[in-house]
Amino acid sequence: MIHFDNSYARLPQGFFTRTAPTPVRDPKLVALNLPLAARLGLDPAWLQSPEGLLMLAGNTLPEGAEPIAQAYAGHQFGGFSPQLGDGRAVLLGEVVAPDGARFDIQLKGSGPTPFSRRGDGRAWLGPVLREYLVSEFMAAFGVPTTRALAAVTTGEQVIRETLLPGAVLTRVASSHIRVGTFEFYAARGDRDRLRLLAEHVIARHYPDASGAADLLQRVVEAQAYTISCWMGLGFIHGVMNTDNMSVSGETIDYGPCAFMDGYRPDKVFSSIDAYGRYAWNEQPNIAVWNLAQLASCLVPLMGDSDEAVAEATRIVHSFPALYQREWLRRFAAKLGITSPRDTDRALIERLLGLMAEGQADFTRVFAGLSNGKARDEFLNRDSFDQWAVDWQARIKDLPDAAQVMARANPRRIPRNHRIEEAIAQARDSGDYSPFHLLDAALRDPFTDRPEWDKLALPPQPDEVVQRTFCGT
Ligand code: AMP
Ligand code: MG
Repeated sequence: MIHFDNSYARLPQGFFTRTAPTPVRDPKLVALNLPLAARLGLDPAWLQSPEGLLMLAGNTLPEGAEPIAQAYAGHQFGGFSPQLGDGRAVLLGEVVAPDGARFDIQLKGSGPTPFSRRGDGRAWLGPVLREYLVSEFMAAFGVPTTRALAAVTTGEQVIRETLLPGAVLTRVASSHIRVGTFEFYAARGDRDRLRLLAEHVIARHYPDASGAADLLQRVVEAQAYTISCWMGLGFIHGVMNTDNMSVSGETIDYGPCAFMDGYRPDKVFSSIDAYGRYAWNEQPNIAVWNLAQLASCLVPLMGDSDEAVAEATRIVHSFPALYQREWLRRFAAKLGITSPRDTDRALIERLLGLMAEGQADFTRVFAGLSNGKARDEFLNRDSFDQWAVDWQARIKDLPDAAQVMARANPRRIPRNHRIEEAIAQARDSGDYSPFHLLDAALRDPFTDRPEWDKLALPPQPDEVVQRTFCGT
């Protein structure tokens, strides 16, 4: 039993199509996120029951669900697509958690919708497991993100380059409204729906925002925070199209995402990102580019005058300073410093420069600062030693430096080769034990346990993953 309250489905015609999920042949539960179920106020026993499974597979609709596919547009790699929308996902509805927070419950991979174009509306197991693992790691680390409530296999095969097992992910988000949702109405000159959408987003995400300009400012702030979190983890989203940028600030759409092992600022994994548009060190610039698209959508609601354009521009241009502040806080914390000074920026940049020289392992360097093992990761250890003298001098009078570092630096991240291993075992042998081991270890990124040690190791040369795929 789920108590739905579907505010998006109450918006007028034109925001979505009413589309039910398509039932699947033989659903089986792969993973159920009980802590998240508790957070949402959902009954864990019911979710684990046969009826719960049928809902998670899209085979039956729970009472109160009003399944819809949301309309959106988006700039993909810089080019505008006026009509994208949920082509392989259906929003079942919204639940209000015991603390009053509202969450979308969406099935991803649930079958075709009017927005599917030539796609099959399905997902294969690989991207479902990847999103489950990575989004839950992000949540455990405190990064704003969509969540994964469940993964089920469908008992059906999907056709990609080969036949692959189909799966459905139950995704939970504070909403699925994207920059591209605004672009959908702006591109059509539909000012009434644009205004309704802005009002809906303000009520839902930024209730004390006073209008469209304020809304834009809040989204800029939320994104500055989120992107700084990504950078601090060596995370590369991989496909920062405007349809994959949430106005809530949550990280969304874990298609070809990856964490870097060795530090390379211009690192790219995605097979379709030929020019490095979405490289690790480009992400703050791309966020500004995307926010500029949102700004031009909102100008009509801000008076549509030269002054409105100037104000929107000023708000977008507030991103770099906000981002730099968050970046400094985050990286300073990684060195044990809670109240950073401007001079700390140079200390951080110096360390990153040394890391880049030999592509030192991003995660192990920072985790290793706590236990004296960081030095081993460097090519030029003398330079590191000199840096460490200055760093020690900076933190020697900070009593909480050790605890600050311990909370700022994960012991392990979702390494690409471990994700690939978990997916391959599940796909080829139906063996989910590597997936479950990784899931448990990533939910607890600050604890060491002997059985998790190997998950912290960088890939051996033959394990290195060079490319990731959207996996649609
Ligand atoms: P994404 O790469 O996940 O951001 O998706 C971009 C667009 O393609 C969205 O409108 C998706 O709904 C659509 N899409 C991706 N894969 C499929 C699929 N297998 N079937 C239908 N639509 C899809
Ligand atoms: Mg997407």
